[in-house]
Amino acid sequence: MANKTIRTHFTDKELDCSCGCEKTVAPELLVCVEALRALLDKPLTVTSGARCEKHNRAIGGARHSWHLNGLAVDIACPDSNLRIDIIRNAGKLGFNGIGIAKTFIHLDLRPESEKVCFLYD
Ligand SMILES: [Zn+2]
Repeated sequence: MANKTIRTHFTDKELDCSCGCEKTVAPELLVCVEALRALLDKPLTVTSGARCEKHNRAIGGARHSWHLNGLAVDIACPDSNLRIDIIRNAGKLGFNGIGIAKTFIHLDLRPESEKVCFLYD
């Protein structure tokens, strides 16, 4: 279950591991995703939040995925206006990992020293 001490616009279903286990995102990640939503003033849909090892393997996630420690989210990106808005602002909010895919943007809280922006195939 997601940490409800933080007011969130996101559902447990969005944030928790979708295999049905108890794993959820870290509070600091939730704070940053809420800050992004507030800054953009737009609803955002999380398509992948926390993942356990088993689920991450099942969906072919990266072996050392930041989703595993609850420090990453994928946000649905159906149009390029939203894509630009997210890319422009995510770095300012502490998202040091930004991955751009056709239908979503991956954001994670890796350390500043490992800052990266990458494209999915
Ligand atoms: Zn799981």
